[in-house]
Amino acid sequence: MPAPGGAALALPDGTGRLASLEEARALFRSGQVLVAHAAFVAGRLKTSPKEPLFDVLELFAFVRPGVPCVPSAMGLARALGLAPPGNASEQARALRQAGDLLLDELRALPEAQRSRARPLANQLARGGWRWGAVIVDCIGAIEKLPSPITGLDVWQGLPKWEDEAPSAKPSSIPVEAAETRARLEQLIGITGETRVEQQAYAEAAAYAFSPRERAGAPKVALIEAGTGIGKTLGYLAPASLWAEKNGAGLWVSTYTRNLQRQIVQELARLYPDPAEREEKAVVRKGRENYLCLLNYEEAAKRTALAPGQRLVALGLIARWVQATSDGDMSGAGFPSFLAASVPLGELTDRRGECVYAACPHYRQCFIERAIRRSRHAQVVVANHALVIAQASRDWIVDETTDTQPERRVRYVFDEGHHLFDAADSGFSAFVSGFEMAELRRWIRGPEGRARSRARGLEERLKDLVADDEAAQSALEEAVAAAGALAGDGWMRSVQSGVPRGTGEAFLVAAYAHVSARSDDAESFYSREAGTEAMSDALIETAHELARALRRLVAPLIRLANDLRKSLDDKADKLETYSRARVEAAARGLDRRAKLIVPAWIAMLDALDGQSKGEEFVDWFEIEREDGRDFDVGLRRHWVDPTIPLATEVLAPAHGALITSATLRDAGLGEEDWQAAEVRTGAHHLLEPPRRASFGSPFRYSEQARVFIVKDVDRRNLDALASAMRELFLAAGGGAIGLFTAVRALRAVEDRIHTPLAEANLALYAQHVDRLDTGALIDLFRAEENACLLGTDALRDGVDVPGRSLRLVVFDKVPWPKPTILHRARRARFGKTYDDLLTRLRLKQAFGRLIRSEHDKGCFVILESATPSRLLTAFPPEAPVKRCGLAEAIADIRAFLATM
Ligand code: SF4
Repeated sequence: MPAPGGAALALPDGTGRLASLEEARALFRSGQVLVAHAAFVAGRLKTSPKEPLFDVLELFAFVRPGVPCVPSAMGLARALGLAPPGNASEQARALRQAGDLLLDELRALPEAQRSRARPLANQLARGGWRWGAVIVDCIGAIEKLPSPITGLDVWQGLPKWEDEAPSAKPSSIPVEAAETRARLEQLIGITGETRVEQQAYAEAAAYAFSPRERAGAPKVALIEAGTGIGKTLGYLAPASLWAEKNGAGLWVSTYTRNLQRQIVQELARLYPDPAEREEKAVVRKGRENYLCLLNYEEAAKRTALAPGQRLVALGLIARWVQATSDGDMSGAGFPSFLAASVPLGELTDRRGECVYAACPHYRQCFIERAIRRSRHAQVVVANHALVIAQASRDWIVDETTDTQPERRVRYVFDEGHHLFDAADSGFSAFVSGFEMAELRRWIRGPEGRARSRARGLEERLKDLVADDEAAQSALEEAVAAAGALAGDGWMRSVQSGVPRGTGEAFLVAAYAHVSARSDDAESFYSREAGTEAMSDALIETAHELARALRRLVAPLIRLANDLRKSLDDKADKLETYSRARVEAAARGLDRRAKLIVPAWIAMLDALDGQSKGEEFVDWFEIEREDGRDFDVGLRRHWVDPTIPLATEVLAPAHGALITSATLRDAGLGEEDWQAAEVRTGAHHLLEPPRRASFGSPFRYSEQARVFIVKDVDRRNLDALASAMRELFLAAGGGAIGLFTAVRALRAVEDRIHTPLAEANLALYAQHVDRLDTGALIDLFRAEENACLLGTDALRDGVDVPGRSLRLVVFDKVPWPKPTILHRARRARFGKTYDDLLTRLRLKQAFGRLIRSEHDKGCFVILESATPSRLLTAFPPEAPVKRCGLAEAIADIRAFLATM
């Protein structure tokens, strides 16, 4: 286990010792060690493995496929019921114990399960998996495997979905207050206690399930409910009643994965029988979350010929497929640490390559199964991004083979404070290198030496248009026109300044424009420039690109129409699966020719300055991640994205509940609902929403403390680092440090890593550890005394109930970044917009701290100039103190000591 100055080793004789960094690196490279999460350890030791390692997480994924496990020694210990290890030495010992336990478990498996796992184990052993020989020893060898993909061919044994008759349209039978109360009591059960506030909340939420009285005027309830009220059960009471009385059509939408999981757990109270639950409650995510069996098959076939770590990862995914019920790769049971060995995007349908009914795995496809289940389910649990994406293309239905819509007539938007940002992203457009290359690949297939199943329109449609000259000519025209789009490797052209066609010429000019206008070339963040005073070259290339896109739209539309006509002409000859393919292909063409490309053309045309309108903000952007450019182009966002949210998502529904702990801006007194309506779009609706608010039952005067530290020069990185270190030590861990700049975060991490480790406090950090945000939060949550450093994205994703989170430190006031988009919004929403956003951010972050009546937490801002008007973000009962660092540290130590 990585430890200060090297690593803690647990030796075979039961003893342990510390190894120097040098020795730890040598051991790691030799492969003669047990580790948990090789990629993470490699990052910590700043080295790379030379030989395959014994990664206990891999053993866990094989022995207990589909079982959730946080990817760390602590996570393994918890998942296996071992005593939680404290320091690095204990963690090293726990790893040995975990390995022994798992191998014992494997030996004890019933023969039926061992024989199921045997082909894969033998395949992986031949492919060089470090655990392969050990596992084969436990479950038995196979002399000769029938093929190089035996064991990886998991699609063979999967069940097939069956179509069902369409469900009836939902009716409008109201939900009564008395039955809502009774349902809430049933959900809470005999162990729980019905609280007056929760009952009142449930009754207020029932308004969103009352019958609609006017077309386009949904019944919308806007309810703020402080943490601890019991919102989830509060709204599930009327929502589940509505679904039972009226049929399918209820979608519960969240922003974070955690809340989605929590809602599914709560639904077990409503449907205790797992079979009934499976039928009545479905989790729906975007296509990119599910394993695409065809992509997996092709990856497995390619990889089987080149054994190594990638084959191991695919093998462990095969093992997971044997256990998963839904194929959701973002779910808790997926071994996400495998992303270090195989890009997970390669295994999902990210690029619109799905061939639907033409796919040999169509009847086993996880995505198709989820879509079909959600058509009949009483409760669909989804996320804001999916709801918005679907609503925005409802007129094309979905690109599935089936035209049966998924009905969405009643919504519950939990974490409603995120609706604005979800709509902002869902209703935006970007004419960029990445987007153009995706479209080009979809039309022309892989070019050059790229190896992929993305076969292009010609390959996908050639048998369907074989005897249709008009369609063939439209297809040829589209393929030729797509040659103007930027292609794979476009970033090299941009960086060299030598474009290969119209699309890339536009990108080169856009890149030069942003570079000339933005100052910080070394920025970790995206760089941007407005559309004013553009060079002639940029305007000319934009016009050229718009003309090229018009040449593309026309044949795509003709092709879609020809395909639809063939459905009619060949009605008596086409087999079901061919019909389905034609329909899917026509919808895919429509989506690109009528939605995506026209939006790009409109943006390029608007660069003349006359046709943009007041509603949009356009700018050029070089997108960067960790200081590396990865996309460039022209962006368009709505100034107020709640306008399309209201018209395309809310108005067509019959009712919606928008709820959160942080909807209102407490800084504006009587007008505080204004913020909630501005952030949710409720003020754009025909009928005003019904508002309600419920305070939190927590005793913030006893449970929370807020400190504004007056004497830390946060621009001095040494001073900032020592402040963070001492605050974290005072809290004994369970602390999150939030930064507005990546540079400061990295500098602080570098300075406090060792002293915290010496105090047995693990430190995880965004932009330092080679893990995504979700995995970092999982690691942090699994330990009671860990510390975590992150930026904005982390603040939104943190959901850590209990002792694991007891201190939040902001390096400064989290003002919004002064971007072009923000400038436009401030002009629209007024000067107080900055304050409003900042207060909401503070309120949300504070809300993460106290999640139960037993929690205690401290909130620190290291900026003396924090304006008092922002402090209304905190509950009035929470004591706020402006003081020096030493005083804050002493107070925090004393306050948390009584936890
Ligand atoms: S139907 Fe589409 S998404 Fe499903 S496995 Fe086949 S290609 Fe993949």
